Amino acid sequence: MGFFDLATNLVFPPRCANCGELISMDICKKQIDPLCPTCRMHYENEKQIECNVCGLAMSFCRCMPKNMSRAQCTALLKLVSYRPQGDDMKIRDFIYSVKDDNNKVAFDFFAEQFRELLILEMRGASLLPKDCVITFLPRSHKNKANSGFDQGYELAKALSRKTGIELVRCFDRKFSAVEQKNLNTYERRLNMKSAYKTRDVEDKIKDKTVILVDDIVTTGASMASGSRLLFSMGAFAVIGICIGVTEKKR
Ligand SMILES: [Zn+2]
Ligand SMILES: [Zn+2]
Repeated sequence: MGFFDLATNLVFPPRCANCGELISMDICKKQIDPLCPTCRMHYENEKQIECNVCGLAMSFCRCMPKNMSRAQCTALLKLVSYRPQGDDMKIRDFIYSVKDDNNKVAFDFFAEQFRELLILEMRGASLLPKDCVITFLPRSHKNKANSGFDQGYELAKALSRKTGIELVRCFDRKFSAVEQKNLNTYERRLNMKSAYKTRDVEDKIKDKTVILVDDIVTTGASMASGSRLLFSMGAFAVIGICIGVTEKKR
């Protein structure tokens, strides 16, 4: 920890990004964990929860919704299983914070987690950073105007900075698209088909493995729609990456 960081931390002691508890500092460590030990434990436990399809821990699970496999996605990497309701998920507020607050600490935290997942995936496929590009699914104009930021963009930007993989903005939102959250699976698919338009970046996408970033994946309709467009632009492969997938009803 540099002198400036140390001095800043003494004046503004760091607090846990999830529960707000003061975090005790270890000046020998290069970086302070944004989570207190209790929240870190909850988070690590969440990561170990097994996928109810393949039985692997979420961070090893590569399962994806059917519409994503139909769209020829290679894999969906995810950190945790996301449960909008239920008080058993102590780390939920932290995940929510990327949706509702322009929380730099959270973006950086999840981007670092993405980087760890992605490096393993790239190693397995013998991919180098130059073989890949990062892109994201932009949120609706209304949504962005309300919150003042786009979490997909923020996550993608932080991941690009950490991995050295180029960030290419491939999509724009059309103004007409309806909010996804009030629609069922079929309606979402129809809605998403027309939600994005591609930008003139084919030369940057051609023959690349595209890392498609989103925050929470529910039905996979947006990711599937984005993948199809990326393939139509000449992408070689598409790997989805998200913080959480909404748990399937058992
Ligand atoms: Zn905490
Ligand atoms: Zn799985």
